[in-house]
Amino acid sequence: MIYRSTRSEHRASAPEAVLQGIAPDGGLYVPESFPDFDWQGCLRCPPTEISARVLAALLPGCGDAEGLVDKAYFGKFSTPLLCPLVRVGGLWSLELYHGPTSAFKDVALSVLPRLISEARRRSGIETIHILTATSGDTGKAALEGFHDVPGTEITVFFPADGVSPVQQAQMVTQEGSNVHVLAVEGNFDDCQRGVKEAFAQIKTELPAGAALSSANSINIGRLAPQLAYYFMAYAELLRQNVIRLGEPVDFSVPTGNFGDILAGYYAKKLGLPVGRLLCASNANRVLTDFLRTGVYDTRRPFFTTDSPSMDILVSSNLERLLFDALGGDTAEVCRCMDALSREGVYTVPEAAMERIRESFVGYTCDDARGRSMIRSIWEQQHYLCDPHTAVGFAAAEDYLAETGSKTPLVVLSTASPFKFAGAVLQALGVRPHGDGFRQMQQLSTLTGLTVPEKLRELSRKKVLHRDRIARSAVTEAVRQIVRGER
Ligand SMILES: *Cc1c(COP(=O)(O)O)cnc(C)c1O
Repeated sequence: MIYRSTRSEHRASAPEAVLQGIAPDGGLYVPESFPDFDWQGCLRCPPTEISARVLAALLPGCGDAEGLVDKAYFGKFSTPLLCPLVRVGGLWSLELYHGPTSAFKDVALSVLPRLISEARRRSGIETIHILTATSGDTGKAALEGFHDVPGTEITVFFPADGVSPVQQAQMVTQEGSNVHVLAVEGNFDDCQRGVKEAFAQIKTELPAGAALSSANSINIGRLAPQLAYYFMAYAELLRQNVIRLGEPVDFSVPTGNFGDILAGYYAKKLGLPVGRLLCASNANRVLTDFLRTGVYDTRRPFFTTDSPSMDILVSSNLERLLFDALGGDTAEVCRCMDALSREGVYTVPEAAMERIRESFVGYTCDDARGRSMIRSIWEQQHYLCDPHTAVGFAAAEDYLAETGSKTPLVVLSTASPFKFAGAVLQALGVRPHGDGFRQMQQLSTLTGLTVPEKLRELSRKKVLHRDRIARSAVTEAVRQIVRGER
């Protein structure tokens, strides 16, 4: 299993790719080719075993997959199913939010620290500095995964005014001796750009024995664990006799950085009969327009929405799909990425777009529609979904209306509604009261559902991180952290 950069002939082993996060040429690591995988055999396994098999196939040399997965999930998820599949009307909801931070990123970020730790041990590096830009959920899930992991320092940059109060509380109360949390005066794209620049700058200044890596979904070690739940969903539909082996299943994926949905595409590459992947965007509909026109154009206003973890204009993982659709033409990938950083726009050749459209279709949903989705699903199905997931349900509705498809359709449910209680209350026609914690309680009283314990505990935690920096100061902050001065 060899990994290669999307931007040059550079190659790396799986542990090297996991350690580096991003390739030296600025490209992303992708499999040179996908391994032969016994996908049918894996469907008969329990969830953690599915996970272990996928990891062993994609990331050989990163430790014992079975032991790693057991330690990553045992006692951390509130259900042994990890990701339960729930019937909602004519659709299925794959609940990915039963981990410690109540968002789907726990599935991968419970595993990644262990992969990085193992790769670090083998490489002889003393300290890995993990840099993470977050639109809200990655930050806490990364902190939860990396805090007090020996040989790592974890630094999270979040947009000062771009995350929900609960997301912010989750991050700024994080305990641990190796933890840095900084608010950046800007949006998620500013954080992500800052981190990418810091990577490029600091790489040459690192003290001996230190290295940089990333917990963002640009890291292949972050992406690989996410393939597993596509297999889990398929296995469950088989068990319930909804499908027969080999029949396709469609997935609707609330999308931001394009990691989650790309994992679905990679699951298809490993053999899973994935049909259509619905790329569900909020009002920041760059991807919807791209899938329709072939032009990726970020020159547009940025909206702050009810689904902050999807408030993204530059979806990093799309580069991996481009590489694939362009048949591995690195020069063409470089041309697109150069145009993106210089002009904020690029156009993909029509032949490649046709290949992309065989698997992907894009939909968009603004906050008003999202809120009416939350309300109607609650009123008609007595099922409560969060604002991100609502965008996925809206895409599913649009797709079915447009195509009349009879293929089973699974909506990836990416966060607990309690994490975004204010918006959910408003969707249900109720005025939210007080801070995020009061609102969680209010939502619980209204719906009769229980607030996840870890979220409830938050209100009693002390704020430990108050740093706020300019968007131009990310590199300097990283420099200080690497030198032990911050
Ligand atoms: C991160 C996130 C998304 C978007 O996932 P990507 O992999 O970035 O596309 C959607 N919903 C929630 C709740 C998230 O935290």
